[in-house]
Amino acid sequence: MNAIDNRTDIPAQDVVRDEAFYRDFRQQLRHFMQGNCPQELRELVRSNQKVGRAEYARWQQILHARGWGAPGWPVEFGGTGWDLQQRYLFEEVSAELDCPPLYHHGLGHIGPVIMHFGTAEQRAYFLPRIIDGSQWWCQGYSEPGAGSDLASLKTSAVREGDHYVINGQKTWTSHAQEADIMYTLVRTSQEGRKQAGITLLLVPLDTPGIEIRPIRTIDRWHHVNEVFLNDVRVPVAHRLGEEGEGWSCAKFLLDRERLSPATVPRLARQLQQVEELIQNRLREQGAQPSLHSALERLFVAKASAMGAREMLLSAIQEEMNGTLQSSKSSALKLHCSELSQQISSLAYDLAAPEFATRLLPQAPAADGQDDLEMERQLIHTYLFYRSRTIAGGTSEVQKNVIARDLFGA
Ligand SMILES: Cc1cc2nc3c(=O)[nH]c(=O)nc-3n(C[C@H](O)[C@H](O)[C@H](O)COP(=O)(O)OP(=O)(O)OC[C@H]3O[C@@H](n4cnc5c(N)ncnc54)[C@H](O)[C@@H]3O)c2cc1C
Repeated sequence: MNAIDNRTDIPAQDVVRDEAFYRDFRQQLRHFMQGNCPQELRELVRSNQKVGRAEYARWQQILHARGWGAPGWPVEFGGTGWDLQQRYLFEEVSAELDCPPLYHHGLGHIGPVIMHFGTAEQRAYFLPRIIDGSQWWCQGYSEPGAGSDLASLKTSAVREGDHYVINGQKTWTSHAQEADIMYTLVRTSQEGRKQAGITLLLVPLDTPGIEIRPIRTIDRWHHVNEVFLNDVRVPVAHRLGEEGEGWSCAKFLLDRERLSPATVPRLARQLQQVEELIQNRLREQGAQPSLHSALERLFVAKASAMGAREMLLSAIQEEMNGTLQSSKSSALKLHCSELSQQISSLAYDLAAPEFATRLLPQAPAADGQDDLEMERQLIHTYLFYRSRTIAGGTSEVQKNVIARDLFGA
């Protein structure tokens, strides 16, 4: 066993990081996650059911108590300081054991922006609450008329003394119904380039003047919302970066959002589940032509997942070195969202079409128990994943970013 600091499990500097070191580290992760992730949470994740704030927070608190609350953060901000390989292993073992993913809006999105652009007071106040899972965030970027063309946003913030007064509307705001704070882009100036008049504000969602309305999506769950802001007063101390610097913060954040280290291992786990499904069908039905074609699709998806893994590793390394290119995170986002649709379509085609009309998610089983829970969840996942090529920036927009970076278009 290699030398490990017992308090945080951060390897001492002089430890040789060879194959044996990472094997031990993986064992340590497995041992902890198997012993400490509650069985009911793992079952929920394994069967692709909805994970909400309560479940995310429960797991986050357990990880935090272990010193593993922020695997991607540097030690100075309360993170583990793990290297690339350790970070990837954490995500991989977590997915293999069906532990809930980390809640991305805090740890993956706004946390790094606060580290980079925040004041000492903002870092000291917000970062510990993200790591211990007590404060929950959502993203208020998109508006009706400002999605792909985000810089056209109209929600305004006018400075009055030591407050901003915000008026406008956000839309497609994931998790707003269960979040405490929304990081949001607002227009503070109409002068010059439209990007230059944008500022990033952190808006507590219990501030008077905020109304949150649910949007029901095709999968019938409540993920997204409209958020109306009517004379909402936010202290200037809740501005991240300088006034007019919001566009730089937004781009910094979107690059990290599109990187999303958990996606690739979760896709690999879903592929494993699909493979099990095919094996079961082969045992039950014999070698039907439809199963041959499913196997072919499975192999193509597996090859794609291997490519995504390599791309992810090099992107995480670039992020750690501070050299992450927008085109790299966009390529990863593009590839993974399309792959997730391929996998969920394959699972759906195998198991679900004959049940689709009667098994829409949340339609209760006639007698509470109809033995079709797996099919119900596959239909749900299939429908939900239709949004993967839209949320976080559409595939067309990712292609534009890649083209611009490569060809200077
Ligand atoms: C499930 C889900 C969750 C979301 N969560 C959030 C969230 O938490 N916070 C948030 O702020 N937003 C969120 N969004 C919004 C998401 O970021 C936007 O939907 C997305 O950016 C697209 O914007 P739009 O819907 O306005 O479509 P539009 O921008 O109107 O695009 C319509 C179509 O035109 C294409 N198009 C647009 N511009 C170009 C171009 N220049 N070149 C080529 N094609 C183009 C698009 O690809 C698309 O096919 C979420 C969306 C979904 C579906």
